[in-house]
Formats: sequence, C-alpha cells, structure tokens
Amino acid sequence: MSNVECIFCKITKKEVPADIVFEDDTLMVFKDIHPSAPIHDLVVPKEHIQSIASLEGNHRDILAHMIYTAKEVAAKAGLKGYKLVFNVGRDGGQVIDHLHLHILGGWHPVKDKTAIDAMPHPRHDPRT
Ligand code: 5GP
Ligand code: ZN
Repeated sequence: MSNVECIFCKITKKEVPADIVFEDDTLMVFKDIHPSAPIHDLVVPKEHIQSIASLEGNHRDILAHMIYTAKEVAAKAGLKGYKLVFNVGRDGGQVIDHLHLHILGGWHPVKDKTAIDAMPHPRHDPRT
C-alpha cells in the first residue's frame, strides 16, 4: 500500500522526519516544508494514492476523513477562514505524486495581500 520511493510514504512511516500536527490510523497532517501561507499544513493519507485523478470508489471514506480532519486542524489552529487545495497532476501544479490536501491560512487581510495570490496556477499569468 506504500511506495518505497515516495517521500510522503516515508514521512507517514516516520522514516523521514516532519513537523507532525495530527495523526491517526489512516492519515497524517504535517507542516509543509516550504510554506505558501503563514499556516500551511498537508493532510496526507497513509495509503499511497497518486492523486485525486486516481481515486476509486473505495476511497470515498478516506477523502471525507481528510476534509473533516482539515476542518478540525484549522479550527484548532484558530483559523476563521482558510483555503483547502488539491493540486491534481503536473498541469494542476502537483509535484508530489501522493494525494495530499493543502490547508492554507493565517493571513492578515489588510496588511498581507498574499491571501488572494496563494497557490496560483503554476503556468497561468493573470496579467496576460
Ligand atoms: P504539490 O505541489 O504536490 O501539491 O505540493 C507538494 C507540497 O509538499 C509542496 O508545498 C512542498 O513544499 C511540500 N513538500 C515537498 N517535499 C516535502 C517534504 O519532504 N516535507 C514536507 N513537510 N513537505 C514537503
Ligand atoms: Zn506515497
């Protein structure tokens, strides 16, 4: 169920360290190593599923559990608003081929304008 070459499999098996926020039998939440927001966590199932595009019917429960866990983690972090992002495939900005849900938040709306620009499409320049 895991891929020996996959960095997120290695993290969920604790072969590679990460700043773990939450863990249960089926998933782990850890801090993104290169945060795109003041708070940037990743919700990662322990099963190696490549992406949203490779989901099968038996993954419905795990997906619901990922989203519910994201809500709980965000609430615990005191976030009143946040973004939940799945990048899907290279054209969608996915770099790590192990399903993960980004939790992004913690911006200060007036001073910090990164809120609206967080996680832009990697190949889309809004000015063109
Ligand atoms: P993707 O672009 O695939 O949706 O996002 C992958 C995310 O994983 C990126 O935001 C990247 O910073 C994060 N990441 C990549 N390698 C590691 C790692 O070894 N540890 C942690 N904690 N995050 C990682
Ligand atoms: Zn994996």
